[in-house]
Parts: sequence; C-alpha cells; structure tokens
Amino acid sequence: MTPVSAYIGLGANLGDPAATLQAALDDLAAQPGITACTASPLYRTVPIDTDGPLFINAVARIHTTLSPLTLLDVLQAIENAHHRERPYRYAPRTLDLDLLLMDGVEMHTERLTVPHPRAHQRAFVLRPLQDLAPDLVLAQGSLTALLAACADQAIQRLDTV
Ligand code: AMP
Repeated sequence: MTPVSAYIGLGANLGDPAATLQAALDDLAAQPGITACTASPLYRTVPIDTDGPLFINAVARIHTTLSPLTLLDVLQAIENAHHRERPYRYAPRTLDLDLLLMDGVEMHTERLTVPHPRAHQRAFVLRPLQDLAPDLVLAQGSLTALLAACADQAIQRLDTV
C-alpha cells in the first residue's frame, strides 16, 4: 500500500506538556506503518471546552500505510502509554491525540470522524497546521480565513521549550 499523508493534532495540559508532546512525536515516528513524521512548532494556548492549566499544542504530518481505524488505535495506545485518563468529558489531559485529516479519507462512524469535526474552528489546530501546510484548504475554507474567524486567538508560538 502506498503511504498517504495524515495530520495529527497533539495537546497536553498536565504534567510536563512539552516533554510529553515530544515523547508522543517520537512514539509516532517509531510506529510500524508510519514512515515519516514532521512536527510543527509548539504553541502555548488557553484551554477551550476544558479547564486547568494552559495547553501546549502542535500538529504532526505523517506518512502512513495504516488504515484510519488502525491509526486511531495507535493514537489511543500512545495516549494510554502517557497515562491519559478520562475522568469526565473535556477533562484536563496529559495527552490528547486527534486524527485531523487523512488524504482521501472522509468518514463518519461512531468511533471516528475524519476530517475531525472541530479542527476548522480551533486556532490551536489551524496555526500549527499552517506552519506545516500553508496552502492547505479545508472544506470550510483556507487556513487564513478560518483562523481569522476563530474564537481562540490567544495562542503563543514557543521558539524554545
Ligand atoms: P477525546 O476524549 O476528545 O480525545 O475524544 C476521544 C473520542 O473521540 C474517542 O472515543 C474516539 O473514538 C473519538 N473520535 C472520533 N473522531 C476522532 C478523531 N478524528 N480523532 C480522534 N478521536 C476521534
């Protein structure tokens, strides 16, 4: 099977978020079936739909031969390896991994919706996505236009962590 591109959103706001994101990126890159992994810069962001400390967010572009559901299994295994707990919906989290986009994939099942249904509304996704793919156009519009409409503008790029 020829590898396709996919974009993964990473976020954390408990423990040492930057270190956790770096470890998760290493885990992704080491996965069988993932042949390349390029990370955006990290961003510090204000929690949206959840509470607790500031988040660190990033996006990774991978090349993968995995199916969407197998890729979701991989993401959830990495979350669990980093002690992700789900005490309640939108709780603070040590690591959240979302499958944002995958080339040629449009699906809506109980377990997985791709493209991710809220990605186009969130600057903490769109800004790092723009770093990786400035010319990407989502179904809802260009990254620049979507970013201008985002409620969460309070996001700060980290040059060093
Ligand atoms: P969360 O707690 O916000 O990480 O949501 C995780 C739940 O969302 C899991 O039950 C997944 O099966 C489901 N889900 C649906 N679509 C996606 C997606 N594109 N990426 C990650 N999780 C998804």
